[in-house]
Amino acid sequence: MPVPALGLLTYRVPEDQSMPARGARVVVPMGPRTMTGVVIGEAAAADTAYTIKPIKNVVDDHAFIPPDVVRLTEWVSEYYLAGPGATLAAALPPHGLTARTDRFKSVRIAALTAAGIDAAERLAAHSGEPAELPRMGRRQLEALQLLKGAPAGLTLPSLAERGITSAALTRLKSLGLVSIRDERVDRDPFEHAVSAIKPHIDRDATPEQEQALAQLQPLAAAQKFHVALVHGVTGSGKTEVYLRLADAVRRTGRGVLMLVPEIALTPQVAALFRARFGESVAIQHSGLSDGERHDQWHRIRRGDVDVVIGTRSAVFAPLANPGLIIVDEEHDTSYKQDETPRYHGRDVAIMRGKFANALVVIGSATPTIESYANALEGKYTLITMNRRVLDRPLARVDVVNMRDEIAEAGEDVVLSRPLIAAMRDRLERGEQSLVLLNRRGFATAVVCRQCTHTLECPNCSISLTIHKHGSHWHGRCHYCNFLKPVPKTCEKCAAPYLERVGFGTERVEAEIRTLFPTARIARVDRDTVRRKGSLVEILAKVASRDVDILIGTQMIAKGHDFPDCTLVGVISADVGLGLADFRSAERTFQLLTQVAGRAGRGERPGEAIIQSLLPQHYSIRLACAQDYRAFYDKEVEFRRTMRYPPQVAMVNVVVRGKTFEDAMAAARDLANATRGAKGFVLLGPAPAPLTKLRGEHRAQFFLKGTSRKAMREALQLAASRHPAMAKRISVDIDPLSML
Ligand code: ADP
Ligand code: ZN
Repeated sequence: MPVPALGLLTYRVPEDQSMPARGARVVVPMGPRTMTGVVIGEAAAADTAYTIKPIKNVVDDHAFIPPDVVRLTEWVSEYYLAGPGATLAAALPPHGLTARTDRFKSVRIAALTAAGIDAAERLAAHSGEPAELPRMGRRQLEALQLLKGAPAGLTLPSLAERGITSAALTRLKSLGLVSIRDERVDRDPFEHAVSAIKPHIDRDATPEQEQALAQLQPLAAAQKFHVALVHGVTGSGKTEVYLRLADAVRRTGRGVLMLVPEIALTPQVAALFRARFGESVAIQHSGLSDGERHDQWHRIRRGDVDVVIGTRSAVFAPLANPGLIIVDEEHDTSYKQDETPRYHGRDVAIMRGKFANALVVIGSATPTIESYANALEGKYTLITMNRRVLDRPLARVDVVNMRDEIAEAGEDVVLSRPLIAAMRDRLERGEQSLVLLNRRGFATAVVCRQCTHTLECPNCSISLTIHKHGSHWHGRCHYCNFLKPVPKTCEKCAAPYLERVGFGTERVEAEIRTLFPTARIARVDRDTVRRKGSLVEILAKVASRDVDILIGTQMIAKGHDFPDCTLVGVISADVGLGLADFRSAERTFQLLTQVAGRAGRGERPGEAIIQSLLPQHYSIRLACAQDYRAFYDKEVEFRRTMRYPPQVAMVNVVVRGKTFEDAMAAARDLANATRGAKGFVLLGPAPAPLTKLRGEHRAQFFLKGTSRKAMREALQLAASRHPAMAKRISVDIDPLSML
């Protein structure tokens, strides 16, 4: 049942019925209610302490969820310690289990019957109205003529546009001259896709692309499970490699599944596939309306398409017989789901490939340490693309030490002199600049200068971020969205000395507007793209050169291809380094390398200017050198000495409570219940970095070891000893966030 907290339930198949297919939907009694669930398999033995109720009704006479996807959800449940209901829900289309399956949109179409065609022909042969035809009005005669020219029929709305009312059509129908039918129309999410995409069907592959394909094609042709990691620098043309490989695989009759981080952020990749493969592409992501998602799911399930592109959850798409699974930008953290089931889309993709005997290609300019280590150990085939297409150089990267700028211009300096000069230069030459600051808002906090009190969220242990709306100042919690106006005086000591500290993208935008009043400026962050479609609009404006300077958070660092951008500026490159997370250096390196990779992708060479207070930090230094291998070697050494992944596996357990003491006590009980088992060590419990979140207090402990199995079993055992805690615990296997 798609109910998160429930385990598998057992029902009886009535004697006169055969066993429904694995993956078929069935209607069953659940307490006082009736609900729809999915058949997972035959129960080994029923617990006779309960009466086993019979199934009420079998919805599908075949699998609704394909059996291999059912198997995949079972693996996810087991690996990530998530209930089967939660995992199944992740694999279902919207409204998948409402017994009504007719959620399609349809349109009414009128067409001539045989008698209608006959009548229309006679009409055309006569100048007047032939006597043997029934009497008809002018509109009806016009309708006959229009429909004669459209053998497949015309939609009622398009007929109405030409003045043919439904009353006229009803009359024709009653005369037997016209038939009216309903036809399903699939809502098409590509309708609004950027139209500036050129498919480039005829261009030649570069020698490096040829070489990558020469390695990948035999792996795909072998029809055996295999993983390849494509490590290609930004602008090396990985997408073209994916497109050609996908084409080769679909020609052999097998399906292609391509995962991308967040389609809203990279509409170009999906649009490129659509441009190349047309109607045989389906798209699956959370930005679609329920209706669109539903229709796309069913197109895939019916076998109307052989290429599926989607975000994380598309890994469960009901695509038959996938032969190739691509995970683009495999380092992207949006592949990890941050609620139950806490799965990693890339890792589930690899399992799906294993079950399907498919080639899995994961690609990035900045692979995760985990994936690169697997490649070096020989678990994955490593394919390297070192050069940009057409021998375009990588952007030149310079670091500005912000301590020098602060000495010159004061603590509050946002834009350095070299960056301002470079932006001015681009404006004069009519080229584009991109400015990244991975922190939104105007200021990071408001602090009282008299008592140092900070404006905080009442629900979370975090200070409110300050946003400017017109002439009003607001504090907003970026975790729970709590919002309140910034007071004039301190809430605690009533002193009128409130000061804004730190800065975010809004402040950068304000500074740039003051410096360059005539420049065309756009900003992209969670605040400006709240409305559906607004990001695509802004990106389209950048592509059509209606924007000179684009400011944004990490959203602008992802996969975009802006050929006219020749300058990338990074403000506060070290924002992420202060976080209590062993991956902070890796994240910083990835972000800087990716954003620098947005510059100089067209004909003119690019330049990146990185502002930092810690220019000597290895993640910043090596991102500037764009030396992935040197970074990997240094980082993996750090992980080895500190015993962090990939050296060991980790599990993050968070226990929530009404008070902090309550949360800690519960975490202690649970952690103690894991003691005694072998194969891992226990760290904590301790207060979680976010000790309070959305009104709940949080304690945390980690398990760290080489055996995930041992950790899972110990946790299952511990949880079974404390069943009352179930709703307060979240377990994260292979966590990406330490919070
Ligand atoms: P990556 O994903 O590796 O960063 P892209 O796939 O976005 O790189 O390609 C970078 C740029 O090079 C794009 O503008 C793309 O259209 C162009 N490109 C890719 N392959 C070729 C080719 N064979 N010939 C000419 N241009 C190419
Ligand atoms: Zn909050």
